[in-house]
Amino acid sequence: MTRRRLLAAGALAAWAMWRGRPAVARGARVLVVGAGLSGLYAARLFEQFGFEAIVVEARERVGGRVLTLDAIEGRPEAGGNLIGANYGRLLAVAAQSGVEMRSADAVETLPTAYLIDGEPASARSWRDSTSNPLPDGLKTVTPDRLGAFLLRDHPVRNAADWCNGTLAHLDVAARNFFLGRGLDAVAIALLGANNGYGNTLAETSLLSLYRTVAGIERAIAFGRPTLEAVAGNQRVPEAMAAELARPVVAGDPVIVLERGADGVAAACRSGRRLEADAAIVTIPLPALRQIEFRPTLPRVQREAIDSIRYLKLTQAHLVADRADWTASGLPGSLWSNAPFGRLFVRRPPGSDTYNITVWINGDSCDRYDALPDREAGTRILEDLFDAYPDARDRLRLRALVRWHLDPWSRGSWAVWAPGQIGRHFAALHEPAGPIHFAGEHTAYAYSGMEGAMESAERAVLEVLRTLS
Ligand SMILES: Cc1cc2nc3c(=O)[nH]c(=O)nc-3n(C[C@H](O)[C@H](O)[C@H](O)COP(=O)(O)OP(=O)(O)OC[C@H]3O[C@@H](n4cnc5c(N)ncnc54)[C@H](O)[C@@H]3O)c2cc1C
Repeated sequence: MTRRRLLAAGALAAWAMWRGRPAVARGARVLVVGAGLSGLYAARLFEQFGFEAIVVEARERVGGRVLTLDAIEGRPEAGGNLIGANYGRLLAVAAQSGVEMRSADAVETLPTAYLIDGEPASARSWRDSTSNPLPDGLKTVTPDRLGAFLLRDHPVRNAADWCNGTLAHLDVAARNFFLGRGLDAVAIALLGANNGYGNTLAETSLLSLYRTVAGIERAIAFGRPTLEAVAGNQRVPEAMAAELARPVVAGDPVIVLERGADGVAAACRSGRRLEADAAIVTIPLPALRQIEFRPTLPRVQREAIDSIRYLKLTQAHLVADRADWTASGLPGSLWSNAPFGRLFVRRPPGSDTYNITVWINGDSCDRYDALPDREAGTRILEDLFDAYPDARDRLRLRALVRWHLDPWSRGSWAVWAPGQIGRHFAALHEPAGPIHFAGEHTAYAYSGMEGAMESAERAVLEVLRTLS
């Protein structure tokens, strides 16, 4: 008898014993590929339904794109950062697992100043800055708020409107939309300088920007501040992993996924072979490209996996004590069109250390990519010191994180090119027999961390429907 038949017989026996109770396939085994939020939440739910869950993870750590830099004073986040007050699933898990949260308002953050074409400005002086290229009527809108301002009359009424086809006519290049709003090429270049939703605005779907603005509005409408885990957001996935019945199989990437009548088999890089009745694959698309599927996936799904791009994102994590920060000449947090992009400055409660995250998006990362970590970090600092000479020797570089060079993510999140939502979104979560797909990039209503959790719930339900 094959293992699957044995399981079926076992399930029948269980059914006989459990008659009248929910028809869960007790004893069925599910493989979860990836131990980020989506994979760990999927495994947690499976265990709650009486399934055996095996989680396999490429990295030596869990959490994926949730990464707290514990070795740096102030524990800055290198990945998933702000937890919306409307992140119901994530907050419920954190509460169940005893991960303490605090309001982001408890953290001192410094107001944003601007450095455009080398000219400094404050929110107040921006209107009259000689580097302000915006047309009359927009002059007072600061560069960091310009996108949201121009997109404020958006048509996304329900959370999933962006991907259900009703707004397909807006799945077009964002650049053309902004040109139509009176921005010239110089203003568009400014707007695109720190675009987080495409490597350029010509490559960014307007609909994906509307989705983002609508998501932020929903979070704000909740009327409560964003949150963060007191000891670092990575404590949430760590707690989920620790509570699983089986430890995560870490440091062993899946390289082949084979599906057949009996279920699914995974081959890992070490030679390990894992078999299960179903699988949920939660890994970012660029990592998914590296997995061989046997038999191959349908054409449109393959095309979706191969063509959806991820945002390039470089972060340099700096620290300064209070005296050095004050003498650095830096005005606070910063939004610039200089090579180093943006600076986010924060000081956690009770700490005397300022954490400064230099945050570089999209094609602006290219300038540093050819360099190894140490040189890239030094080059970023030199670019910053060229603009702020007093900061030299006052800021210390503690870590460089380049998500797009990391083989297990190859970018920070999925970005949608014009036309791609309509063409590819649905294909991303089409099950291939017993193989189901989850992860942030497959979420309907939320994006980011809660999107990862939402996607896990959807994929678990799909599996429950087939195995119960
Ligand atoms: C810089 C940054 C800032 C962010 N800020 C926010 C924010 O403020 N708010 C918010 O809500 N979200 C934010 N996010 C997004 C959020 O962190 C992610 O959407 C979420 O964590 C993704 O979870 P996931 O489970 O879908 O994917 P991942 O976390 O990427 O998990 C997938 C896992 O699969 C593993 N894997 C890859 N390949 C293989 C393989 N072959 N075999 C086995 N395992 C494999 C990976 O190592 C990884 O652990 C941010 C992300 C980044 C990078």
